[in-house]
Amino acid sequence: MLFKFVDFIVDGSMNMAVSSSFSRTIYSEIEEVGWEHLVKLAEDLSFVTFRVVDKKERVHVLEIILDKSYPNCPPSVSADVPYLFNLEWSANSRLNDVVKQFREHLEKLQHFWSAVEDIDQSLWVFDSAQLHRATSLRRINIGNDCSIILFIRANEPRSLPECRFLGSDKYVNMLRDKWRRNSDKWSKDKLFGENLANLLEFQLPGPPGVEKNDQPIECGICYSQFLPVDDELGPKSGGRTDYTCENSTCSKAFHSVCLGDWLRSITTTRQSFDVLFGNCPYCSQPVAVKISTRK
Ligand SMILES: [Zn+2]
Ligand SMILES: [Zn+2]
Repeated sequence: MLFKFVDFIVDGSMNMAVSSSFSRTIYSEIEEVGWEHLVKLAEDLSFVTFRVVDKKERVHVLEIILDKSYPNCPPSVSADVPYLFNLEWSANSRLNDVVKQFREHLEKLQHFWSAVEDIDQSLWVFDSAQLHRATSLRRINIGNDCSIILFIRANEPRSLPECRFLGSDKYVNMLRDKWRRNSDKWSKDKLFGENLANLLEFQLPGPPGVEKNDQPIECGICYSQFLPVDDELGPKSGGRTDYTCENSTCSKAFHSVCLGDWLRSITTTRQSFDVLFGNCPYCSQPVAVKISTRK
């Protein structure tokens, strides 16, 4: 039963060179993490990737590279985060401990992601399509053919960031003077837009096309802007799209109801509690959607 499932996931025959005790160890450790979190397992078991959802329902992918010396030597990990954690490893450690430590690390990074989200939503950020979860710098349009690059500190995201100004010398020098003179006005309790306005002594432009975002957007599955008015949909009846693919180059909008129905029809979809894990129908990147509680 278990092996059937594994064959299906690795999509092919197992490499005979992999010792059976090694593969048994890996399978039982994956089982402990939960098969529903598994994204990929290399045929030669050289790496395994898991999908981890943080408290804000952001989907993360953790890659664990397994050396032949595993578990005697700690595995190496990689993920789309601004900095990684130091893996604590002992003779009894297992893959589940790696996932646990990654989860704890994600919790520490919540302040960082909410800080950069605040910037992305309230200011005119350049190249926003190329931003990753790990990206800690932002280039912001401040008008007059001038921009500012902010280097956000991942471990102290609300503190005064390092910055560089780009633009004409005369204007940039004036801004630098203001920044220096007013830097003690920076407050960790204020939003970035307000802090930047206090330091530069003017209000920065908001993101372009804000008015456009206010318009209802078509759902990528039912192609309608609004769900039908239907008692069965409960509070979502007649609602707008409420889910956007997190892959910034895709950003397709869906009704979570439509995406949930679609994911349920796909055999590779996994469910953990009331969250469905699958892939975006447009870009195939991982998506996680809470199942609506229907009446
Ligand atoms: Zn829809
Ligand atoms: Zn997508």
